[in-house]
Amino acid sequence: MSALSAPHFHNEEAAYAYVEARIWPEGPVCPHCGGVDRIGKMGGKSTRIGAYKCYQCRKPFTVKIGTIFEASHVPMNIWLQAMYLIAGSKKGISSNQLHRILGVTLKTAWFMSHRIRDAMRDGAPDLMGGSGGRVEVDETFIGYNPRVKKAKGKGGSAHKLRVVALIDRDSGKARSMPANSLVRDEVAQIVRTNVAKEAQLTTDESRLYAAVGKEYASHEFVTHGRHEYVRGDVSTNTVEGYFSIFKRGMRGIYQHCHENHLHRYLAEFDFRYTNRQALGCNDADRADRLLQGVVGKRLTYETIGAR
Ligand SMILES: [Zn+2]
Repeated sequence: MSALSAPHFHNEEAAYAYVEARIWPEGPVCPHCGGVDRIGKMGGKSTRIGAYKCYQCRKPFTVKIGTIFEASHVPMNIWLQAMYLIAGSKKGISSNQLHRILGVTLKTAWFMSHRIRDAMRDGAPDLMGGSGGRVEVDETFIGYNPRVKKAKGKGGSAHKLRVVALIDRDSGKARSMPANSLVRDEVAQIVRTNVAKEAQLTTDESRLYAAVGKEYASHEFVTHGRHEYVRGDVSTNTVEGYFSIFKRGMRGIYQHCHENHLHRYLAEFDFRYTNRQALGCNDADRADRLLQGVVGKRLTYETIGAR
């Protein structure tokens, strides 16, 4: 049986029930007043699917309020299909592909995929390496920053977008973010914000990490300049593996990544990496975890920075 043959992918009422069971495990919660008592399901032919009424504040609501689904006319079962496809594809799915598979307009597909990426963003990230494990940190360049002109006839990376990624070796989690300039102070701030002082910071020999490394339980590095890639369990191979997945995906599917959207693509790759099969997370688990992230993320077409 196809994974997509489940009723919540085809029937809007089943889709609402599916989402409600996951967002409201204890029963409906009024988004207006926070009430949980005296909430009634609205019936009748003229009522919207999934409509409830709160008899404390007397306002109607659905599970879409305050989530990425708010103010969207796309049927809930189509949203769930889109989420399943994006969460389950190794390298991502382009808006164009989503538009053709789901039968929504290209603009709608673009908007949906950015909202879904926003749901993939970890809204309350904790510090990595808190139990004294290794945290690998590395930086890379990707794509093209339209604000910086490429130097004529030269290689270099001044015109590229910059990314820092961290991997918590104990949990297997990945976290990555755009960096403006990749200078020492900025990278140090990223490390401090994301890594617990108990961690064993693990990098290459880049001077970006020398000073901030002193703030950590330990800081060990491999010297790539001398072709040293592994020394005992000191290496940055995991974070480099993460970058290679990200770059393959970005090259294959998302060729034109504007810097305004880079953080959302990074959130998508972080999410899939952190919730991967090798860590015991199957496609259905991953789609369910994604559904947990839809609350409190309300990108509008304007705030996405459409272009
Ligand atoms: Zn209420």
